[in-house]
Parts: sequence; C-alpha cells; structure tokens
Amino acid sequence: MTEKIRHVLGLSGGKDSSALAVYMRDRVPEMEYFFSDTGKELQETYDFLDRLEAFLGKPIVRLNMNADANSNRDFDHWLTVYGGLLPSSQIRWCTVNLKIRPFEEYVGEDHAYHYIAIRADEDRVGYKPPSISSLRNIEPKYPFKEDGITKEDVYRILEESGLGLPDYYKWRTRSGCYFCFFQRKSEWVGLLEQHPDLFKKAMAYEKPNPNAKTGEVFTWCQDESLEELSKPERVAEIKANTEKAMASKKAAKPNRRLIEILTDVLDDEDDEEPCLPCHK
Ligand code: SF4
Repeated sequence: MTEKIRHVLGLSGGKDSSALAVYMRDRVPEMEYFFSDTGKELQETYDFLDRLEAFLGKPIVRLNMNADANSNRDFDHWLTVYGGLLPSSQIRWCTVNLKIRPFEEYVGEDHAYHYIAIRADEDRVGYKPPSISSLRNIEPKYPFKEDGITKEDVYRILEESGLGLPDYYKWRTRSGCYFCFFQRKSEWVGLLEQHPDLFKKAMAYEKPNPNAKTGEVFTWCQDESLEELSKPERVAEIKANTEKAMASKKAAKPNRRLIEILTDVLDDEDDEEPCLPCHK
C-alpha cells in the first residue's frame, strides 16, 4: 500500500502565510491548515483567521488550546515552567514550545509536506531550528520561491481574494503575541494607542527576576522597560522619528501603499529576522 502523505500549512495570522493558504487552496485541496495559538494574539488576528477559514472552506486547526481552558498549554503555562523568565531573541523558549513542538505533535510520525511562505524576493536560505521542524518525516516545500511569488504578489493575492490585510497592519507589520519581543519601538507605541489594556498587561509581565539579588528586571525590550517607553516624552520621540522616516521613504519612492512604506521604516529600525512560524 502506498504511504499517505499529508499536506500541512501553518498560519501565523500574517500576510505571507495567509496569501500562501489562498494560493494553495485549489492547488492542493487536501491541505490541512493549522494555527499554533499562543493565547496572546491580537483580536485582529483571531478575526482575520475566522475570515480566512471561511474563504478556505475548511477548519483551521487551533493547536495548544483545549476544551478545558485550565489545561491549555499557552504562553502563561510555559512562562510558569520557565520560572517567569521572559523569552527573548536569544532565549526563544516560546517558539520551541508554542509553535514547533505542537506542530510536530500534530504531524506525529506521518510523512508530511510542510508548506512554508518564504517568498522569491526574500534572501533567506534555509531557516534553521527553532524556526522550522528538523524532523525527517516533515519535508519543507516553498511554493512561493518555486513560483517566483514576491511581496507585491502577496498583496495582490490577498486583495484579489477579498480578504485584504489583517487590521493590525495599520500600525504593526508582524503578527504574533501582543507583547512579542520582536516588536519595534513604534509598534509598542501602536499597541499603547490601539490596545491600552493589552499594553498594561504586557507591562505586568515585566517583573524582577526572583533568582537575582542584583535587582535585575525581566523586560520585553533589552534597553528600556515598558514603563519608560510609555512616558509621554518618549512616546512623542518615537512617533516623531517614525513620522520623519515615513516622510523620507515616501518622498524617495512615492505611490506606494502605506503598509509598504511602514514595513520599510520598521525594517530599518530593526531588521532582525522575524520568527518564521509567528510572523510570516
Ligand atoms: S510571537 Fe513572539 S513572543 Fe509570541 S511566541 Fe512568537 S516569538 Fe514568542
């Protein structure tokens, strides 16, 4: 008997994986779609996934969440396991425990093609773990790379599908947890202005390290706490810097979508490679 191969596509709530789902819907009808929920995503992300699910005409399997909310293996569960240590780009326990392992458990020992939304215009060869699974039964596929699909095509695919972009793209260009440490300063300011309640919750995660006698505090940003970042003069400074950079990018290349200009500005601020399963 021939071995059945599964086809799986992980959604982050971001534009690239969403566009890939739209692109693959009729090409691979047996595709399974999944979303590794950290329990800390923006409401805009959950809303967009619901719309995408309707477009795809099949459920997007939500990993990590159980019928009994007390047994959810979400971000807070793992934060307790790690003794309150907030994740950072150096210690990304969140990606491993909330994204990669749940995905590997979902596939199990089956042979699966894993469809990944790396575009043809991205100069990123071979994301390494913890960004993707290294299990041998899971074989990565890169349809956008193979078919020459670029960022411009991604916008077009989403526009033509009627889905457009998730609402948070007006102020933030990466999906993922509302408190993600990969956020740029202006995105933190966006969170403060768009979701002050979530900003407060993010602040509440910043606590002194219980194991340190030096007064060390776990913070999301390496160089300042959210309390410092949210001071009016600091907010004004960050906003002024962003507006100046936006004006300069617009003047250099007019007639672009606002989101493209914002992406350019934010990438200049911090072009650290985002987390593949969280932000694509
Ligand atoms: S979005 Fe950020 S904080 Fe959340 S799991 Fe991904 S890398 Fe970690």
